Amino acid sequence: MQWTDVLASRTTRMKASEIRELLKLLDQPDIISFAGGIPDPALFPSDAFSQAFAEAMSGPKAAQALQYSVSEGYLPLREWIAGRMAAIGIPCAADNILITSGSQQALDYLGKLFLSPGDTAMVGWPTYLGALGAFNAYEPRYVRLDPLSNAAPEAVRAEAKAAGGAVKFAYLSSDFANPTGETLDQRGREALLDQAEALNCAVIEDAAYQSLRYEGEDVPPILALDIRRNGSIENTRTVYCGSFSKTLAPGLRVGWVCAAREVIGRLVLMKQAADLHSSSLSQIATHMVARDLFDAHVAKLRSTYNARRLRMLAALDREMPEGVRYTRPEGGMFVWLTLPEGMDGAQLLARAIAEERVAFVPGGAFHADGSNRNTLRLSFSCASEAQIDEGIKRLGRLLRA
Ligand code: PMP
Repeated sequence: MQWTDVLASRTTRMKASEIRELLKLLDQPDIISFAGGIPDPALFPSDAFSQAFAEAMSGPKAAQALQYSVSEGYLPLREWIAGRMAAIGIPCAADNILITSGSQQALDYLGKLFLSPGDTAMVGWPTYLGALGAFNAYEPRYVRLDPLSNAAPEAVRAEAKAAGGAVKFAYLSSDFANPTGETLDQRGREALLDQAEALNCAVIEDAAYQSLRYEGEDVPPILALDIRRNGSIENTRTVYCGSFSKTLAPGLRVGWVCAAREVIGRLVLMKQAADLHSSSLSQIATHMVARDLFDAHVAKLRSTYNARRLRMLAALDREMPEGVRYTRPEGGMFVWLTLPEGMDGAQLLARAIAEERVAFVPGGAFHADGSNRNTLRLSFSCASEAQIDEGIKRLGRLLRA
């Protein structure tokens, strides 16, 4: 069988990343890894989940936890989320919330909802690798999202049309972005909404890290600013994607979309066709744990991750040679390094593993065109403070060499 004869055209853009093989080596115990952008498992609220799962499995609740349920998601969880959204400036009802299997599923559905082959998606340069992976299946063309750009909307629209489609959305990881750690400020958010209005396109606000602020003032969510402009969530163009992966635990696969009912209604149909609904058991347990300890747990995460963030920034200040620039994130899990022009993050990773036993993710992969190879992403979420000191020292030594 020649499988390539029967594959859909969309599969041509599904590819394993060049660095996967290298990242497989990271299990070796002597390697200090700043590669994985994942939460520290030592911080999972496992006791609370163990109790919640036991409770969900006892008595009549078990039937609900093990049965099929509605595509929209478990109502008490949607109501809890709607309450939290209201608290961050997004007044909405449970009908404005769809539970997804992680926010990754939301990105896939939004690609499916908006993109026909040849349509244009505006994304950050760099942007979240998993968003490019999700959108690629719908065969878009990417252009660089720059909220403060003064490119004429007519020109952007004409180029999209010449490429065979239209500008459908701007996607961004809005707070403590994956991969740069940066947050778009309020002025940038307003400018982005102006741009989206001029282009008549949607905005996808990926707020996966929004709760993990360690310093500075909260910036209103883009959806909140959109509601302020347009009076009600029903009149907005922003689709907000939230997740419990970074605050409670990613293995539950519980995320959500918050948007106008018209968008939610279409996504519900999509979810029905794709997987009927997210795990009932996961949703019920997530609701119990979120209801009882979300704020206290997030406070604990903040204090641990903040200590690691400060440690990494201090180590970078000490160890990085002249010519290396890096972001100073106020939250999240990532610091983004820009090396001198001409250096290559992927080649550096091979040497970093072989010679210094330290790892990171090369930055080229986060760019839709693979450019800016002189960049890399460091994650401070899973390393101890001692490992951070030692790992950054090793990286500095390699860069100086
Ligand atoms: N968005 C961003 C910016 C992420 O970093 C991640 C996970 N790394 C996701 C979405 C997907 O997370 P999940 O599906 O677990 O909610």
